[in-house]
Amino acid sequence: MRGPVQERELILSTVRTFVDREVVPAASALEHRNEYPTALVERMKAIGLFGVNVPEAYGGTALGAVLYAEIFEELARGWMSVAGVLGTHLVICDVIAHHGTPEQRQRFLPVLASAAKRGALALTEPDAGSDLKAIRTTATREGGDYVLSGSKMWITNARHGGIFVVLARTGPDSLSAFIVEKGAGVRVARDIDKLGYKGIETCEVVFDDCRVPAANLIGLEEGRGLRHVMTGLEAERINVAARGVGLARAALDEALKYARLRRTFGKPIAEHQAIQLLLADMATKVEAARQLTRFAAAKKDRGERCDLEAGMAKLFATETAQEVALDAMRVLGANGYSTDFPIERFYRDAPLLIIGGGTNEIQRLVIARALLKRDQ
Ligand SMILES: Cc1cc2nc3c(=O)[nH]c(=O)nc-3n(C[C@H](O)[C@H](O)[C@H](O)COP(=O)(O)OP(=O)(O)OC[C@H]3O[C@@H](n4cnc5c(N)ncnc54)[C@H](O)[C@@H]3O)c2cc1C
Repeated sequence: MRGPVQERELILSTVRTFVDREVVPAASALEHRNEYPTALVERMKAIGLFGVNVPEAYGGTALGAVLYAEIFEELARGWMSVAGVLGTHLVICDVIAHHGTPEQRQRFLPVLASAAKRGALALTEPDAGSDLKAIRTTATREGGDYVLSGSKMWITNARHGGIFVVLARTGPDSLSAFIVEKGAGVRVARDIDKLGYKGIETCEVVFDDCRVPAANLIGLEEGRGLRHVMTGLEAERINVAARGVGLARAALDEALKYARLRRTFGKPIAEHQAIQLLLADMATKVEAARQLTRFAAAKKDRGERCDLEAGMAKLFATETAQEVALDAMRVLGANGYSTDFPIERFYRDAPLLIIGGGTNEIQRLVIARALLKRDQ
């Protein structure tokens, strides 16, 4: 009989082995071809990763936020895009688990936990990203249905996802969240070409008079949509922070390996103090980002409010990812700029973390507001 500690070690070592043996060797080639990682996603399904935050009663494993963060760190050190396939899927699981009615949880969570259908989150629009209150997609009640009309931008998993959580306007001052099953009235209009985060799709999605049963209004509550999706976004900050830690750690590991091998002026560059100073700063930032992320996750696991800590972790870990990716490029010199090494991929993937999951400017506002409120 395994205890919780052994169970947790087993899960993490399974993910680590998967990343080392299957993700790391395949990532750069798939990324450069912009190819969807079908085989890797199938393995992630088999490992059970799509249900890690779903309650056991609905077929998940409810592993808790600390382990969730550790899993995201592992996946992102292999390839940001496999972490991306899982990221918004788990955010919508979180929203449905916390705010869905018992009937909604029963209908959707087992399907999501087994990855029979995968999830996407549709908040952002062409004219509204940070300012979600400005969204224009409407949901109009018609008998037993709502009819959704409008356009969403930057929707990760839009092609491979079968269940969307969509934020829409149900009145001038009322935003509501709906569970929309892909089908009539949902059109993936185009794939957006990106700097990085390749291999997985990020799309414009159009809702053309899409009929959604009123039973799919999350919590059967109109006007609470922003609150519902915010619950998921708090968890998303922890997963984005953990992705930042994973990317930064991968860049640091590459830099350490290279610094031991590359020789200039008669010795390995690791013996030049200028390189040692860079490596020391990189490693310190990675560890600080990891501890901040785990601190936020541990608060969440204790059921405590963690918006301030999750915001700090997201801000620090994602800025760290960008800085450490650039520092690793300095250590590798021209090879860092080459597609023969993964540093250029890390460097292109890092900015997404600064923008996605609430930009870092918005994180700073959230942090400052929480501080000012707390010290009143
Ligand atoms: C690869 C990728 C995948 C994504 N996946 C998804 C997804 O699956 N689902 C989804 O819904 N969205 C997704 N997004 C969208 C993402 O959440 C938004 O890009 C993000 O919320 C920022 O919105 P915006 O791009 O419209 O920027 P804007 O809100 O237009 O902001 C532009 C700039 O102004 C700053 N700014 C805005 N308001 C303020 C303020 N009050 N004070 C100070 N500065 C401010 C911002 O920080 C930013 O620097 C994705 C984005 C990317 C790049």
